[in-house]
Amino acid sequence: MNLFRRPAPSLDDLILDAPHELPSESLMPTVARPAQVFVRGQGSWLWDSEDRAYLDFSQGSAANSLGHSPQVLINALADQSQALINPGSGLHNRAQLNLVDRLCQHTGSDQGYLLNSGAEACEAAIKLARKWGQLHRGGAYRIISASTGCHGRSFAAMAASAGAGASRFEPLLPGFSHVPFNDLPALHAAVDAQTVAIMLEPIQSEAGVIPATEHYLKGVERLCRELGILLILDEVQTGIGRCGTLLAEQQYGVRADIVTLGKGLGGGVPLAALLARGKACCFEAGELAGTHHGNALMAAAGVAVLDTVLANGFLQHVRESGLYLGEGLARLAYRYDHGQLRGHGLMWGLTLSDDCADAVVKAALHEGLILNAPQPDCLRFTPALTVSKSNIDEMLLRLARAFARVRTAQLQCRKGIAV
Ligand SMILES: *Cc1c(COP(=O)(O)O)cnc(C)c1O
Repeated sequence: MNLFRRPAPSLDDLILDAPHELPSESLMPTVARPAQVFVRGQGSWLWDSEDRAYLDFSQGSAANSLGHSPQVLINALADQSQALINPGSGLHNRAQLNLVDRLCQHTGSDQGYLLNSGAEACEAAIKLARKWGQLHRGGAYRIISASTGCHGRSFAAMAASAGAGASRFEPLLPGFSHVPFNDLPALHAAVDAQTVAIMLEPIQSEAGVIPATEHYLKGVERLCRELGILLILDEVQTGIGRCGTLLAEQQYGVRADIVTLGKGLGGGVPLAALLARGKACCFEAGELAGTHHGNALMAAAGVAVLDTVLANGFLQHVRESGLYLGEGLARLAYRYDHGQLRGHGLMWGLTLSDDCADAVVKAALHEGLILNAPQPDCLRFTPALTVSKSNIDEMLLRLARAFARVRTAQLQCRKGIAV
């Protein structure tokens, strides 16, 4: 099945970043994007302006938890926008109350708060921890996080992330330290009198889908209890069913004091949440606010997503299709001599035999498959939670063709060098 009307690109195009026409020169070039403009989406499929179809196994970096334009989301947004879009964050709206009630009930949290983005939820978690430190730990403020973690691109989130590129925006926010992930002794050694919280992703996404070991995360929880500091879990990507349970912490048998949610919660609209349990519930009026916090339209989307994910059999489907995807990827990785596969539910990372992930992503795009590469040698798969087995089978066919394209191109390049 050839979905493309254009001739296949030359092999060089796959490896070298071929110059292409920019869709617009007005857009700040802060994100490297392919030239296609996307106009339509349905479930696991996207169409560009030339009506070419792409299987989407990124889904807006895991934001579109129910796939593209699911009917429940369309209905929720249409109904809410007819009734009330935005009374303002200083007034109550029904959707916000419904969503925080449901989130608290189903995650065993005592309080919740709605925001716009994952980074913003992580900022708010850091604020909450510092507030708690002033109340209960003599002004302790330091947050320890993992040196390969990622919590977003705003200033506190960047400081917590220790990530690439941050040095260009110095001075960064002080009060953060970083330790290697999955290393309990290093974490223990880093805690000092000024430490107020430990902040981690249960499964690190940007680092290449690296799960915490159960020994580690349980140990971190124990350490926090013993030392009387807070555990913050960043579940912006792992939460809302992505890993086969509502929160990933459930699979570890761990309970954080503060949890952040984002991405999949809105199903494709900007929505995030901050959840707090027990002693961590200490915000008072005037300490956290935002024009669109608790926006009724976005909250209505969140209710629709959460109700869908919690419906009978949904998470079972995520676990089953997750296993099916994992098995298929493992077979393909073996066939093409690629490396380790890591993940849970419908969040997988595949390490490649060399730093060719960007070339594979480009080749996959030519094959009508959308993927992304969190690391130069790693591919990430975060399909819709509603993905079907036939979607997965089709994805594996396209990925095999992309691997083959890159292999051929690599061989040709090597020959070229040898001549
Ligand atoms: C994406 C992500 C964030 C940042 O969320 P934004 O909505 O992009 O600000 C934070 N933490 C984790 C674990 C993420 O995956």
